[in-house]
Amino acid sequence: MDIKSVSVIGAGQMGNGIAQVFAGADFEVRLYDISKDALDKGIATVIKNLDRAIARSTITEADKTRTLGNITPVTTLAECGTVDLVIEAATERETIKQAIFEDILPHIGKDTILTSNTSSISITRLASRTDRPERFMGLHFMNPVPIMQLVELIRGIATDDATYNAVNAVVEKIGKTSSTAEDFPAFIVNRILMPMINEAIYTLYEGVGNVQSIDTSLKLGANHPMGPLELADFIGLDTCLAIMNVLHDGLADTKYRPCPLLTKYVEAGWLGRKTKRGFYDYRGDFPVPTR
Ligand code: NAD
Repeated sequence: MDIKSVSVIGAGQMGNGIAQVFAGADFEVRLYDISKDALDKGIATVIKNLDRAIARSTITEADKTRTLGNITPVTTLAECGTVDLVIEAATERETIKQAIFEDILPHIGKDTILTSNTSSISITRLASRTDRPERFMGLHFMNPVPIMQLVELIRGIATDDATYNAVNAVVEKIGKTSSTAEDFPAFIVNRILMPMINEAIYTLYEGVGNVQSIDTSLKLGANHPMGPLELADFIGLDTCLAIMNVLHDGLADTKYRPCPLLTKYVEAGWLGRKTKRGFYDYRGDFPVPTR
């Protein structure tokens, strides 16, 4: 099956990056968000990223024009229907994702493949709510999408070989590398990464270190390019909490208990970079630790 057209549902930090990468590889892309403001911001982010790439001489002005020409912003889910591949990249909440798949079903062709960029939610369960569990799978990009090389592929229990092979071929076409994970909570990357971030937040919560000392320790002591708290802000603290809850509920092990301090930040609406405050305050010229 040859995939040429893609709809991306959700134009937040992941959705706009996914749209950019597919458009850059000459797929016909539709980008949708329930919020018009988020859609406008998503397109503005793609333009900003392409301008930055021009400044670094990694692409030309002509590449920018071609890439933007391949993206059509749309304001209804119905317009996302007639494509070969749907990539759902909306907020990490199962009810939201379920509703999107239910609402798009009447508008898609019989061969359309459905995928979710979920970081943690069961692919098999999401697939079971659609009319095509065999043509449904997880397609998990890393943040920031234009930079990060890996895409995790997750087969649901019913995903057929033709779907897996078609999606795997698409990953190759956009110049990325796939790894395959079984459909268990948070798959591979976040199963390992998120408990480390949660432990860093416990380390802060228990006063073992402050934000600065925890991030410096992991950067210089473990050679991580970003500290775990800086990384949590980058991912989004709401997303981190959602993933920890999926691990905790899905694996029924107290070692995945989300840190109460993470919950507190999310309750405050301090979600990290996207709201300009999290473990760091991003409202000034430089990030300032909040603890
Ligand atoms: P985000 O908050 O930046 O964006 C989510 C977007 O979804 C928002 O613009 C919101 O308006 C939109 N949305 C909400 N309900 C919708 C609906 N019903 N229809 C259409 N759009 C809707 O979040 P994000 O970081 O882009 O995360 C999106 C998905 O990608 C999540 O499933 C997340 O787990 C996954 N993911 C995130 C990261 C990361 O590092 N942030 C990495 C990999 C995967």
